[in-house]
Amino acid sequence: MSLQRNILMIYTGGTIGMVEEPETGALKPFDFDHLLEEVPELKKFPLNIHAHAFKNPIDSSDMQPEVWQQLAQIISQHYSAYDGFVILHGSDTMAFTASALSFMLEGLNKPVILTGSQLPIGKIRTDGKENLITAVEIAAHYENDLPVVPEVSIYFEYQLYRGNRTFKYNAENFKAFISPNYQILARAGVHIKYNDAWIRKADDAPLQAHYNLDNNVAVLTLFPGISANYIQAVLHTKGLRAVIVRTFGSGNATTQDWFIQLLAEAIKHDIIVLNVTQCAVGTVDQGKYETSSRLKQIGVISGRDITFEGAITKLMHLLGNHSDVVTIKHLLETDMRGEVTL
Ligand code: ASP
Repeated sequence: MSLQRNILMIYTGGTIGMVEEPETGALKPFDFDHLLEEVPELKKFPLNIHAHAFKNPIDSSDMQPEVWQQLAQIISQHYSAYDGFVILHGSDTMAFTASALSFMLEGLNKPVILTGSQLPIGKIRTDGKENLITAVEIAAHYENDLPVVPEVSIYFEYQLYRGNRTFKYNAENFKAFISPNYQILARAGVHIKYNDAWIRKADDAPLQAHYNLDNNVAVLTLFPGISANYIQAVLHTKGLRAVIVRTFGSGNATTQDWFIQLLAEAIKHDIIVLNVTQCAVGTVDQGKYETSSRLKQIGVISGRDITFEGAITKLMHLLGNHSDVVTIKHLLETDMRGEVTL
């Protein structure tokens, strides 16, 4: 007799559940019951699917760390009762939420799959139905009583990605996400083919949810001609604890003295400086060029091949849970949840 798996579907909003406002034609979130009516196929699964719908669904561009805390709480409270979780979410900030949850849910040993769509589920050509149905199927997929994908992932347009390795790169195509520095976890065709070597293995660690997040972080995207005034203003942000410097290529930046001095000064005052490349593919390699050697010398931390989404949420998580700068720097250089290649 096969066991009926229990799946919890959490609806936060996003295009998948939106309808057009008659007067303006603008898309706004709609209620969850309406969304479910559009996917009667879900009833055919031999699964117990329960839903937790946000009272006020949001466009994910309105996402806030408080909602990540709420999601982590829902998962943690229902963890033992469910075999897998599917989060319906707007695609705009889906990769941030997936990354944040990966850090907040230490010891996660069940699938948490985020999905959504580029077209509302009520539209005839919607991509939402397939995304939702296959995400549920993957979340419920167990072999020898072990979940096949026990990590936070994103399912979109026939591909399953590691959540903290992914970002939205396309606002037009149904294929909205990529994870260029990490292989996809699964591909759905006639069969769902799992890329086992790249999926984390389940173990018997207990779930430990960490809810604290600290958003005293800033981002400096470098460009030729960036002014000292601007950088100074960012580094003097009240309460600032960490800054991501989005560098060129393999982690390079201007060698001008004023720039290096401003960063060195910030580091002396215990502000963490993390080097993340503006390139979508490849890794930071401080010291490869002269234009990154000095960054290394003054104590800039290399983000290696982490995504921007992974970096910002890892920082919020670490700052929220540790006060000691040495520990935070050490953890930034550690692969905590499969977010970085060492
Ligand atoms: N603006 C929408 C959102 O992120 C886009 C989408 O769902 O694809 O909520």
